[in-house]
Amino acid sequence: MTYRVIPLVQAGVGTVDTGGTGTSVQSLPAGAVRAPDMAEASAANMTHVANMAPRDVRGRMLHDLRISVTDRCNFRCTYCMPKTVFGRDYPFLPRAEILAFDEIVRVAKIFSQLGVRKIRLTGGEPLLRRNIEHLIEMLAAIPGLELTLTTNGSLLAKKAQSLRDAGLQRVTVSLDALDDSTFRKMNDVDFPVAEVLRGIDVAATVGLPVKVNMVVKGGTNDHAIVPMARYFHGSGHILRFIEYMDVGSSNGWKLDEVVPSAEVVRRIASELPLQAIDPNYVGEVAERWRYRDGGGEIGVISSVTQAFCSTCTRVRLSTDGSLYTCLFAQQGHDLRAMLRSDCSDEAIIASLQAMWRVRSDNYSERRNANTPGLQKIEMSYIGG
Ligand code: SF4
Repeated sequence: MTYRVIPLVQAGVGTVDTGGTGTSVQSLPAGAVRAPDMAEASAANMTHVANMAPRDVRGRMLHDLRISVTDRCNFRCTYCMPKTVFGRDYPFLPRAEILAFDEIVRVAKIFSQLGVRKIRLTGGEPLLRRNIEHLIEMLAAIPGLELTLTTNGSLLAKKAQSLRDAGLQRVTVSLDALDDSTFRKMNDVDFPVAEVLRGIDVAATVGLPVKVNMVVKGGTNDHAIVPMARYFHGSGHILRFIEYMDVGSSNGWKLDEVVPSAEVVRRIASELPLQAIDPNYVGEVAERWRYRDGGGEIGVISSVTQAFCSTCTRVRLSTDGSLYTCLFAQQGHDLRAMLRSDCSDEAIIASLQAMWRVRSDNYSERRNANTPGLQKIEMSYIGG
């Protein structure tokens, strides 16, 4: 499947915007710079990043970079990678087109200078990418970044320790039901729920904080909402319920299969009373609720009924190096071409600043009867 990408505008190297500090990267002869001490250095770095960090047309900054490290997956979740499209002969990306680890790390370093504070590794299924631990080690060495990963949990029991040792800070596991038959209806493969639950337990045992994401599809797994809440109540793991979304162009999305988050909260609260709590930070996707009995918290992610575009600080890097400024984008920006040319980091930074400055994405606010039919990028290619 080929997606529409446009070249990233190659802004003039000398025009890196350092936010009016009047210092362009080329003008300071090396000798003139005095080595500042650590505190001074990080303060200077903070100022530097603050000056470099672009705002889009709605004043939104960059905070989250989601990196798809593979377009392959061993599940075929109907809302993401339906078998009818992603069948046996599906043309997945050839190796030469996929970003190499050092290219991914270079991108992460560059975005960390533009305000990104959180990296989420996604896919497809990221744990299918060979030597993923090596990539995590390299990313974990970049200062000031929170490093997380979203997985379907199928390989987590086996890999949790090595992921933790490599420097992963947190893991999110997608789990759409507790019984195998409903689980199978959602992921369309024969994989036991018990193995995913074992992965969650092992991750917790090795010290990886776990969040669990459940996509709720009305008429398929919504009967599992309360059983899932009961199961994770008091477990210390945060369970989040995601409204079924019209991502990509192949999941056959229907509005009447969306269970509004308000209904999810109502069902749970009828058995386990809840109280709304504040977000952890501006731009946090999930709306947070805590159990009144101290049994922990849940989250709801309501892209359909309560759009959160106004605080969206996310950019996505596809497996083959294109940037998407919205989950529902129809085209991307070809970063790989710059990475594989003799472009300097400064030139790439200038281009990314230019790209973000003109960003005005707000698909969820504009969603209407016609938008689901648009040719949108597949979620399995850019990560959720
Ligand atoms: S629809 Fe696009 S702009 Fe809106 S929150 Fe989602 S990713 Fe961000």
